Amino acid sequence: MIIKSVNPYSQAVIAEHEILTNAQLTQKIELSEKAYKSWRTTTFHERADKMKKLANILRARQEELGLLITNEMGKILSEGISEVDKSAGNCDFYAENAEKMLKEVHYDTPFKSMSVYDPSGAVFAVMPWNYPFWQVLRYAAPAVMAGNVTILKHASNVQGCAKAIESAFLEAGFPEGVFQQVTISLSQVESIIASDIVSGVTLTGSEMAGSSVASLAGKHIKKTVMELGGSDAFIVLDDADIEKAATIATQSRMLNAGQACICAKRFIVTEKIGDEFAHLFAQKINALNQGNPLQNGINMGPLAKLEFANTLSFQLEKSLQQGAKILVGGEQDNCNFQPTLLDFVDSNNIAFQEETFGPLATIIRAKDENDAIAIANNHRYGLASAIWTEDRQKAYRLARKIEAGNVFINSLVRSDSRIPFGGIKKSGYGRELSDIGMKEFMNMKSIIIE
Ligand code: NAP
Repeated sequence: MIIKSVNPYSQAVIAEHEILTNAQLTQKIELSEKAYKSWRTTTFHERADKMKKLANILRARQEELGLLITNEMGKILSEGISEVDKSAGNCDFYAENAEKMLKEVHYDTPFKSMSVYDPSGAVFAVMPWNYPFWQVLRYAAPAVMAGNVTILKHASNVQGCAKAIESAFLEAGFPEGVFQQVTISLSQVESIIASDIVSGVTLTGSEMAGSSVASLAGKHIKKTVMELGGSDAFIVLDDADIEKAATIATQSRMLNAGQACICAKRFIVTEKIGDEFAHLFAQKINALNQGNPLQNGINMGPLAKLEFANTLSFQLEKSLQQGAKILVGGEQDNCNFQPTLLDFVDSNNIAFQEETFGPLATIIRAKDENDAIAIANNHRYGLASAIWTEDRQKAYRLARKIEAGNVFINSLVRSDSRIPFGGIKKSGYGRELSDIGMKEFMNMKSIIIE
C-alpha cells in the first residue's frame, strides 16, 4: 500500500511512500531495542556532540528543508525555513543543558537518599503535519539526549519530512535505530505501543487521535503525553495598547494559515474598546496577501488539505446562520481559505465551541474583565491564552484565574525550549520542553543508602 504526498497549492502528487509490512515493522522495533541497549550507556558528552551536529545539519539545509515543508503542507517558505531554524535551536538547547537538567536530587533524611534520572526505553511519537519539523524535534531532542531511543509515526501528508529528519539524524552520526520513522497505517499503531521496548507514547494532534492512542497506551500500561487541540482566548481589556494588540492578534491567528494549536481563536474584547479593536483587526487582516507559498510578499498559503478548507467553510456558514457578522473574507477556492473575521460571536456559536483550524478569527464582546475571564474559561480546551492590558499587576492576577496551560501577557503566544509547554482540559496533559518535558519519559529512580 502507498501513501501519496500531494502539494496543497498545485495539487500535484510529489511523492509516494510505501507502507511497511508487519514483518518490516517488527524489524524496526527490534532495531530500536538493539539501539537502546548501547545508546543508554553513552555519555552526555557523546550525545551532545551528535545533537550539535544535527543542529548544524538542519541549519545548513534550512532552505532545502523549508521548501520540502512548503511543498508537502503549504506553509509559506519563510515560515518553513524559520521552523527548521527553530528546531535546530532546540537541538542546541538540549545538547547544552540536558546533563545539568538531569542532576541527582538529594533529600533531607537521616540516611542518604537521592533520585536519579534513568532513560526508560523507546518513546513512540505520533505527530501532526502543521509543524512537521518543530513538533518532531521538540520531543525527539530531549528524548534522545536523555538516553532514550524513539520511533516516529508522522502524519501521512508529511512523510517526506519524516524521512528527511531520519536521514539528518543518521548524517549527524546517531547509530541506526536511535531515531526511526515508520510509514504505517493506523491499524499498525497498537503493535508499536504494545511492544516491550516502548516505554511511553507522545501524541500531538486532535482530540480524537489523542483519545484513541491514549486508550491503547492505557491498555498496555504505557505513560502518555497528549498535546491536543486548542481554542485559545486572546483577551483585550479597556486599557490595552489596542493598535499593538490588533497587530499581534493578526499574527497570532493567521500564522501558518491559522493551522496551529496555539493560534489565538477567540478574541474576547471589552465593550468599551470593542469597535476600535474590530476596526483595526479587520484592517490588518484585509492587508494580508494570500497566494503561492513560494512567492515573495505572500503572507499565507493554502490549507494543508482540501478537507480542512471544506470543514472551515462549513463552520463559517453555520456560524453566520447562528448570528455572527462577517467583517472580512469568507471565500474558499479549493485549499485556499480567505483570511476571515467574524464579529458578534457568542458562546452558543459553532465558531466559539469548536476548534477552527484555519484563518478564521472570531470577536466576542465581553461586559468587563471578569466577564472576559468567564467567557475565556467557558470552553472544553485550555492550551494557551493571551491577556492585553497595560496594568501588569492586574494581568498577573487575571492570568492566575485563566484555565489554560500557558498565559502570555502583552505578547504573542509561542513555544520556547526553556519553558514548559502543554495544556489542560481537552487540550491534553503532560508537558513538553524545558527539563520538565525531558523528564516525562524517564525513570526517576530513588536510591536510599543506610
Ligand atoms: P490528527 O488528525 O489528529 O493527526 C495527528 C497525528 O495523529 C497524525 O500522525 C495522524 O495520522 C495520527 N492519527 C489520527 N488518528 C489516529 C488514530 N485514531 N490512531 C492513531 N493515530 C492517529 O491531527 P492533525 O489534523 O494532524 O493536526 C491538527 C490537530 O493537532 C489540531 O487539533 C491541533 O490543535 C492539534 N495540535 C496540537 C498541538 C499541541 O501542542 N497541543 C500542536 C499542533 C497541533 P494520519 O495523518 O495518518 O491520519
